Amino acid sequence: MPTKLNRREFVGTVAAFTLFPLEEQRAELVLHNGNIVTMNAREPRAQAIAIARGRIVAVGSDADVLHLATASTKKIELGGKTVLPGFIDAHSHPAEAGVMHLRMVDCDLRSIAAIQAALRERAAKTPAGEWVLGFKYDDTKTSDGRPLRIGDLDAAVSDHPVQVEHRGGHTAYCNSLAFQKAGIDEKTADPLGGKIDHDATTGKLSGRVAESARGLLEKAIPRNLTRDDYREGVKLISKMLAKTGITSATEAQGTPTDLQAYQDAREAGELLYRAYCFINYRHIDEMIAAGVRTGLGDEWVRVGAMKLVCDGSISERTARLSTAYEGRPSDYGILVMTEEQLYTYGRKAHLAGWQIGTHANGDVGIDTTLRVYERLQREAPRKDPRFRLEHCTVINDDLVRRMKALGAIPTPFSTYVYYHGEKMRYYGAERLNHMFALRTFLDAGIRATQASDYPPGEFVPMMALQSEVTRTDTKGNVWGPKQKITVEEAIRVGTINGAYASYEEDVKGSLEAGKVADLVVLGRDPMKEEPSTLVTIPVERTMAGGRWTFEA
Ligand SMILES: [Zn+2]
Repeated sequence: MPTKLNRREFVGTVAAFTLFPLEEQRAELVLHNGNIVTMNAREPRAQAIAIARGRIVAVGSDADVLHLATASTKKIELGGKTVLPGFIDAHSHPAEAGVMHLRMVDCDLRSIAAIQAALRERAAKTPAGEWVLGFKYDDTKTSDGRPLRIGDLDAAVSDHPVQVEHRGGHTAYCNSLAFQKAGIDEKTADPLGGKIDHDATTGKLSGRVAESARGLLEKAIPRNLTRDDYREGVKLISKMLAKTGITSATEAQGTPTDLQAYQDAREAGELLYRAYCFINYRHIDEMIAAGVRTGLGDEWVRVGAMKLVCDGSISERTARLSTAYEGRPSDYGILVMTEEQLYTYGRKAHLAGWQIGTHANGDVGIDTTLRVYERLQREAPRKDPRFRLEHCTVINDDLVRRMKALGAIPTPFSTYVYYHGEKMRYYGAERLNHMFALRTFLDAGIRATQASDYPPGEFVPMMALQSEVTRTDTKGNVWGPKQKITVEEAIRVGTINGAYASYEEDVKGSLEAGKVADLVVLGRDPMKEEPSTLVTIPVERTMAGGRWTFEA
């Protein structure tokens, strides 16, 4: 049933009704009779919205906005449907994932046999001797109850080197030929910050490599992707994101190649979301030398923060913790970079005016990262550095207090509780009340964001809402109920807070005059939905910059 807004809900909004400068007022498109949730505190609800040249020119009641329509204005009657600002995925790897979807075997499958079959099929179509690469493999989601072993991969494909990346991206599984090509054998020493796993009984290679040991393999894999492939990757992932209501995403581990791909896709009219492209610390010298820093670009493609990595991952259980993993009393996870390395790169970027985003999952990782940020601000204070803690998963009161003092921004995983429930037992019930800690962050006045980390996590915003509101996984287990937030708070986290994390809160993240016309039309109202079915709310249309990027 179409819902008409009560007249009284508009009392007090008249004064807030604002228009953009006169010459912009000729509305090209008016959406009306909607249930518009604006995320603008001065005018939280509206019925209509007028758009011209990719921007919002007016938001208000039907009466206020419809009179801006001229004979040439297109009008869409929303039938009471709910409209939200477009979702902002503040930490994800879309360009990287797009290329993976183009070229690699999707191993998000439910048995080792199914993965073997998919690799075998790809090998049959691959020229002899060339690599067969898989991604999105998840050891906790196969029915076998054990991880992939080198023997499984050798049995599937023996005449091609094979590497299957874990969904989390921090570990990979290889066949014998892959190790041979990389010059790794049983006696190869673990590189600093990495691990080459051995079978506990035989001492032979198990097939798994973790963290920086992945670099030894990466060096052996030829990267024969063309500039066009990277553009195609962005085009492919653009459609996947738009379908779910995402209008902006941060490329959290970007490179100059990604930046080029975004510009190419945009020029070709294929970029359907706004990209905030982080630059990995390995490229920071060349970027600084070229005079580039955070903020360069425009509303579609912008240079983001420099990315550093402090510790391991949550989904692969390598995050660095102060107390050991459940059932593994001597396993505390991995630190990937030393504090001194983080500081050296951090200082360089900080002095050159870059925002910094450091991957920090475990409480030890977060503590280390905060110490580096505190030192940078002490030695060279900057006005609004908006230091970011990428993921910022396992927290405590001291860490939260220091984050608040620094104005640091956490980007906790939004869909993990719902989607990765089977991994939660490694952390334990008590620790889960201090993980993905949105309730704690919001109560402390910290602007946490929505973040999928795709491919490691799912990016569907409606799944993020359900996960954050219910803290319940797909099997009905509740994990860390103290961190539940409301639907309205979850929407704020996924919209205006994401804009703040990229210094764009004046440009996007809410529906108000002057901002870009990025929005999503939903089939049902999330505020009225039973929380356990939020994920089933259909996205009917997505708009970015005044253009429909998805229509069901
Ligand atoms: Zn990431």
